[in-house]
Amino acid sequence: MPYRTIIEPFRIHSVQAIDLPDAEEREEALRQAGFNLFGLHADHVIIDLLTDSGTGAMSSEQWAGMMRGDESYAGSRSFYRFESIVKDITQMTQVIPTHQGRAAERILFSVMVDEGDVVPNNTHFDTTRANVEYRGAEARDLVVPEGRDPAIDLPFKGNMDIDALRATIEEVGRDRVPLVMVTVTNNSGGGQPVSLQNLRDVRAVCDEYEIPLFLDACRFAENAWFIKLREPGHEHRTPAEIAREMFSLADGCTMSAKKDGLANIGGFLALNDDEIAARCRNLLILTEGFPTYGGMAGYDLEAVAQGLAEVLDENYLRYRIRSTAYLGEKVAAAGVPIVQPPGGHAIYLDAKALLPHIPPHEYPAQSLAVELYRNGGVRGVEIGTVMFGRPSPDGGPDEPAAMELVRLAIPRRTYTQSHIDYVAEVVIDVASRAESLRGLRMVEQAPWLRHFTARFEPL
Ligand SMILES: *Cc1c(COP(=O)(O)O)cnc(C)c1O
Repeated sequence: MPYRTIIEPFRIHSVQAIDLPDAEEREEALRQAGFNLFGLHADHVIIDLLTDSGTGAMSSEQWAGMMRGDESYAGSRSFYRFESIVKDITQMTQVIPTHQGRAAERILFSVMVDEGDVVPNNTHFDTTRANVEYRGAEARDLVVPEGRDPAIDLPFKGNMDIDALRATIEEVGRDRVPLVMVTVTNNSGGGQPVSLQNLRDVRAVCDEYEIPLFLDACRFAENAWFIKLREPGHEHRTPAEIAREMFSLADGCTMSAKKDGLANIGGFLALNDDEIAARCRNLLILTEGFPTYGGMAGYDLEAVAQGLAEVLDENYLRYRIRSTAYLGEKVAAAGVPIVQPPGGHAIYLDAKALLPHIPPHEYPAQSLAVELYRNGGVRGVEIGTVMFGRPSPDGGPDEPAAMELVRLAIPRRTYTQSHIDYVAEVVIDVASRAESLRGLRMVEQAPWLRHFTARFEPL
């Protein structure tokens, strides 16, 4: 077949207007937000790549499902539909609905993690790390060394470092490692996938020490697609078959349905251990809701159930992964340093490489994110020292994060190719004037997840 553009495998059925604030309005909006893009009014954003979480467009079948939502408090029809598809994909026996992924994390860790424990993960997502640390435990990131090198182009940079995992268990003792987690794809590590072989190797270590393995499964479908594309021997399998094998290697998973659930809200915890599930349900009732709705309305359960039925479609996944790579290839071809290869849901600009003149404690990635907004109304998010660095106990410069990235996350089924072309133009324009960018000073911060509310002043 001749080369053809991989098109969006859908047509637009309903649209939302985008405001086009001018440069002066954007400058004023930045000042009011304390140079924190989380503080912007969404009307002031032209292309919003802050997150792919809950920001995607739902299909007409999902909207139709919402009309069918059964709002019964107990035993809702919508719950059984939701439970059945989650069981079909994960093959896990216990399904606990939650309002978001972090609620599943908090409930699971409240039951399984104690003070002084150590939880290994390839790279903890910010809420996952915060929920582990809130229990008084240590969240340890054990991604393979190449996963920390933005420039290396390798197929599975999200893999767990198996030797480091074993060394951690030996060092702290099996009894202080209540579970091992693997995040697929590795969001905070550049949206990089984890291979099936690596999951098998992690499983073998967990078996050896009798430690449960949980997937942070938010982007399981994108990860399955990468396995199909990149891992020898899987090219003829369907994404659904690959996803089932990924889940079969785990004892449980936490899931944010705002990612590969293709929904605007929702999540779940699924697992095989009846006794742990019973304790999780007790906590669920305390803070989320009755076990057949968790933190969701009946119509949300329908939206997620239908989303899960759509997300493993090959046409969707081919378009999804290709359209993300398109942005990455375009800016990289213009010489902008990015995490290579492009991730599944996002492109990560490497601010450390682009802005070597701004030290980590002056937040180079935050400065780049602010400039992308100032230049073209594009909102990305800092994943660097603001998000993962630590204030120094003696008031000196922050302890820096390993990488200084700006993530441009692509909402699912939401923007067209011309929107993405515009984003590439803004990125390339800002990068061409990189040496004129200056750092920022943090003037306000909260004790947890400071990136959401911190305020800055330009230096
Ligand atoms: C989004 C996300 C979470 C948390 O899910 P929420 O629905 O935002 O609470 C956890 N882990 C990963 C990898 C995520 O991307």
